[in-house]
Amino acid sequence: MHDVNDPARAARETRLADYRPPAFLIDSVALEFILDPTATVVRSRLAVRRNPEAQPGGGLRLDGAGQPVRAIGWDGVPLGDNRWHRDGDALVIIDPPASGVLSIETVIDPAANSELSGLYLSNGAFFTQCEAEGFRRITYFPDRPDVMARFSVTITADASTCPVLLSNGNPGPAETLPGGRHRITWTDPHPKPCYLFALVAGDLVALHDSFTTRSGRRVALAIWVRPGDEERCDHAMRSLKKAMAWDEEVFGLEYDLDVFNIAAVSDFNMGAMENKGLNVFNTKYILARPQTATDADYQGIESVIAHEYFHNWTGNRVTCRDWFQLSLKEGLTVYRDQEFTMDQGSRAVARIGQVRALRAAQFREDQGPLAHPVQPDRYEAIDNFYTATIYNKGA
Ligand SMILES: [Zn+2]
Repeated sequence: MHDVNDPARAARETRLADYRPPAFLIDSVALEFILDPTATVVRSRLAVRRNPEAQPGGGLRLDGAGQPVRAIGWDGVPLGDNRWHRDGDALVIIDPPASGVLSIETVIDPAANSELSGLYLSNGAFFTQCEAEGFRRITYFPDRPDVMARFSVTITADASTCPVLLSNGNPGPAETLPGGRHRITWTDPHPKPCYLFALVAGDLVALHDSFTTRSGRRVALAIWVRPGDEERCDHAMRSLKKAMAWDEEVFGLEYDLDVFNIAAVSDFNMGAMENKGLNVFNTKYILARPQTATDADYQGIESVIAHEYFHNWTGNRVTCRDWFQLSLKEGLTVYRDQEFTMDQGSRAVARIGQVRALRAAQFREDQGPLAHPVQPDRYEAIDNFYTATIYNKGA
């Protein structure tokens, strides 16, 4: 039931009819992380400009989670208290110039993050999960899919506890710093919404491989896991290479970075996440050994690896305007992973399985109180819309 007469609920809702283009665009963002389990410093520099497509006027609003602001400046000059204010958990720059560089320094506590959204700690390693609205828990930013920026990410951490430092895009050279620390900068040349940002840092080991695209680009592949688990990644790696080749053959879509990393973590709310160039998976969709895994486990790994890889184009390069379009990326990518699965064996047997899943989950959802269209027109929390209707009916 939707109680249209509940004003408190109406105030919490986001409505498709209220969509307006963002007042400001972010062309590029330089992020710097100084990792610490309980006090990670996050510095951001946003190249901001007023959106010519938007209504003129108005402040620059940045979503956040109320994290403390240690420094804030515009074009290198500190912003006085009269130039910005807080609006709930958000931060608003009052009457900003038409363009400039906004710098913000905040501090966050990954060890205390038990929601596993934003930057969190799992067995001593740092991971992020930003879809749908976790990036605002890391730093202040217009956290909406139609704000797309080129990201560069510099990570500084203790070299013994965090020998591996990963983010989106391509890595630069690692630097050794005094005090047993090290630093690396990752650069992603492709503009992306902030929900596709990822950072992984910890004591991880990798199964390495490579894939050469049909135009001759050699892509370094790695699956990062806890020491000891690297012998259980072969099937995941084989699945990844099959998916990369299939997307070239069937859809003409080639991978577009020099590296593709997958990191597996045991604490993860989502099954897997398609962050650009750095997918993060729950270990259950990576690790398999013949002694314990069933045929269904192997098939599940193959299809989830393929699904997240296929998002590299459907979702990550071709993006959604707003979260009401979630099914455009998820339904389409499920369609693509279903076609991939059908091409790996018997199309009929695979299709029967897909339709059975649709009838068991989506039909039931559609006949109950949680029924909703493939494109909803309002939501209280978009996290509630990762459903069989959005995914399977959308496909
Ligand atoms: Zn997906």
